[in-house]
Amino acid sequence: AKDSGRNAIQLFRSTMQDAVSARLRLENDLRLALARGEFELHFQPQVDARDGQVVGAEALLRWQHPQHGPQSPAQFIQVLEESGLIIEVGGWVLTEACHLCARLLADELIDAERFSLCVNISPRQFRQHDFVERVAGCLRTSQLPHAMLKLEITEGIVIQNIDDTVGKMLRLKKHGVSFAMDDFGTGYSSLTYLKRLPVDMLKIDQSFVRDATSDPNDAGIIRAIVAMARSLGLGLIAEGVEQQEQLDFLQAQDCHLYQGYLFSKPVPEDAFRALLGQHRS
Ligand code: C2E
Ligand code: CA
Ligand code: CA
Ligand code: CA
Repeated sequence: AKDSGRNAIQLFRSTMQDAVSARLRLENDLRLALARGEFELHFQPQVDARDGQVVGAEALLRWQHPQHGPQSPAQFIQVLEESGLIIEVGGWVLTEACHLCARLLADELIDAERFSLCVNISPRQFRQHDFVERVAGCLRTSQLPHAMLKLEITEGIVIQNIDDTVGKMLRLKKHGVSFAMDDFGTGYSSLTYLKRLPVDMLKIDQSFVRDATSDPNDAGIIRAIVAMARSLGLGLIAEGVEQQEQLDFLQAQDCHLYQGYLFSKPVPEDAFRALLGQHRS
């Protein structure tokens, strides 16, 4: 029994060591990925269901690992965040996305008045002391009209210092940039933060949309979010819309902007251009 206990501990130790070295390997691969050009951006259209117009796109990071193939951000965003690599990678995402959007505008595939480029900003990235200057620099070099940029943040952003967060947001808003609260409803104290953060739009999390047509609780949460957005004067968009019934439900609640597989998965630049060409009125 004593022996088997010792074996169990050794097994535990070597499993821990495997996990630690796998993590270190991943971190190292991620460190090299930028230099090797293995990152790519995909774009998922955002649509106004009332007229079918594409009114924006969310930029989503993709990583093509040389040996292991495409990696989902769900697997590596946290490692980027914890290692601090997100600062560099997030900066790359912002630059790439702004330049792409400026090219779409120059090619008259989108309308400056009716298109938002949405970029995810991680808490660590947002906490950089010169984050505002970095965003302003990106807008300057890409020459993207400032009002076209929307930053998607999550409640995690305020964990450290809410005054600093609000201050940065207000400075960015002075530049014309707007904010969407991502994954809305999944955090722990949405209402407290919502009251203080100058966001312009709420993104209804896909976990509520998924069962909206079968689970009365999820339907109720969506109704409550819609009512709240309306009374606070905030815009609204639903994410993860896969079925027509889900969209019908959302529209019945007066939520007309959506993003999801029902319209399109996130796609590479070429496919996104083709899609814009088709949907241009
Ligand atoms: P998110 O910001 O909530 O992005 C939405 C996710 O839902 C994306 O996953 C998208 O592909 C997926 N999605 C869109 N429509 C549907 C649908 O109809 N059904 C389902 N089941 N899923 C849908 P993705 O691209 O794997 O990204 C996962 C998460 O990784 C993102 O969640 C975001 O938190 C993070 N992420 C992605 N790109 C970036 C980035 O550039 N910077 C930062 N900081 N985070 C990023
Ligand atoms: Ca997002
Ligand atoms: Ca989301
Ligand atoms: Ca999410």
